[in-house]
Amino acid sequence: MTIREALQQASARLGRAGALDARLDALWMLCETTGKTRTDLFLSSGDALSKAQDARFEAMLQRREAGEPLQYVLGTQDFMGHTFRVDGRVLIPRQDTETLCEEAIARVGGACLRVLDVGTGSGALAVSIALACPKAEVTAVDVSADALCVARENAQRLGARVRFLHSDLFTALTDERFDLIVSNPPYIESGEMETLQREVRREPRLALDGGADGLSFYRRLCREAPVHLSCGGVVLFEVGYDQAAAVSSLLKEAVGEPFTRLDLCGIERVVGAVYTE
Ligand code: GLN
Repeated sequence: MTIREALQQASARLGRAGALDARLDALWMLCETTGKTRTDLFLSSGDALSKAQDARFEAMLQRREAGEPLQYVLGTQDFMGHTFRVDGRVLIPRQDTETLCEEAIARVGGACLRVLDVGTGSGALAVSIALACPKAEVTAVDVSADALCVARENAQRLGARVRFLHSDLFTALTDERFDLIVSNPPYIESGEMETLQREVRREPRLALDGGADGLSFYRRLCREAPVHLSCGGVVLFEVGYDQAAAVSSLLKEAVGEPFTRLDLCGIERVVGAVYTE
């Protein structure tokens, strides 16, 4: 089968299976299978796939047809210009979260600050901050030992210096304080979980379900953060598209005067506060 035929057949199959970007998905999987860029694929679209490539492509196609997210099938997702390994043990890093990451990096800059990422998942935030701010001391925690395996692998592959700890929010940190605490906690309302896109439902529930009103992790984080913030320390949270006001008031009560940052769609996606004792 030629690359062109493989692309046509796979696009049709994925379309029938309900994939929203069937042709694009097929293209990415063909790139992964052949090791070619998209441009090279078009230039050599008359070439035949080898038997091994054909088998590998078919295996990927079947996983995607069955509703697995493209990123799990490919095994990677780019975030802040770095390629992270991802699989069913971790949430797939979202472009939205780059807003939080950019804000964190701008605040740390070249200073030797202590940074904590709570609920690191794939390690996308912690690793990207560590790579951009080499003087920062970055710690990342997660309640999922499985996620920590993925995060550690990402840090190692990308050459980032991050200390990883198995911890339910702050439990493993006893009395340690940080200059910056970032978190993209689970924030979907429990009742919404069943209505999510089928691909999102393949991601760890632990990384998505934010309790009855979606805010339970922000409540816990706000209650527990002050003990772990240095004076003048900053908290930055990613929030859902309609949660900025609610999370701002939680932060105002527990930490300090809140501020927000917009994502690329103009949605208040990051809420933060500076800790004043
Ligand atoms: N942004 C994710 C989504 O909409 C949710 C991530 C989270 O709960 N932290 O699927």
